[in-house]
Amino acid sequence: MPFAALGLSPALAHAAQALGFAAPTPIQSGAIPAILDGKDLLGIAQTGSGKTAAFGLPLLQQVQMGTTGQSPRTVRALVLVPTRELAAQVGEVLRDLARHLMQQPPRVAVVFGGVSINPQLMALRGGADVVVATPGRLLDLVEHNALRLGQVAHLVLDEADRLLDLGFAEELQRVLALLPARRQNLFFSATFPTAVQALADGLLRQPVRVEI
Ligand code: AMP
Repeated sequence: MPFAALGLSPALAHAAQALGFAAPTPIQSGAIPAILDGKDLLGIAQTGSGKTAAFGLPLLQQVQMGTTGQSPRTVRALVLVPTRELAAQVGEVLRDLARHLMQQPPRVAVVFGGVSINPQLMALRGGADVVVATPGRLLDLVEHNALRLGQVAHLVLDEADRLLDLGFAEELQRVLALLPARRQNLFFSATFPTAVQALADGLLRQPVRVEI
């Protein structure tokens, strides 16, 4: 089945092909139509499954539909990740895909801890539509008034099991408290132990479950 048959715009279907993706992976076939439909999603999937594009493609499509003509840019989609490596990797995929959107492509910001905050403060000055972040640095940036989360319509937790393993539970709750109650939640985890299940249960509303 081609990407366009999943409900993606021609530009994003082309973007996937330009990245060398000939056909959707199973997580992409399962997740993309549900996400475009506005559903919450529980994805049990490993790195290597194609999960980044599984949420990235429909996220960019929804964000672009919402941002056309909008100024200044406000954060519409937030992707929380456990490590700076994953932040950089996810940010790169999202930017590679967004490049193919002609009219006002969504702007993707990537922020993570362990490096100086100043370049990230500068980078956020023009605003961003999509933010990929580790939780602690995100909270620092909110405290610096570098970004606001009150317009976030789509939240992604990527590698939720590792977010908990690395001790981000409390910071995660502080971030969640800053988000509008009405939003789409996408939850990805390679494993699904009790603590991860409890987090998912608290976050997701009647999720579509895709397990690969
Ligand atoms: P991820 O699970 O998102 O870390 O992706 C793992 C790898 O699979 C990355 O190198 C992607 O570029 C690649 N990939 C993602 N989707 C597809 C696809 N539909 N066809 C071929 N490769 C893909």
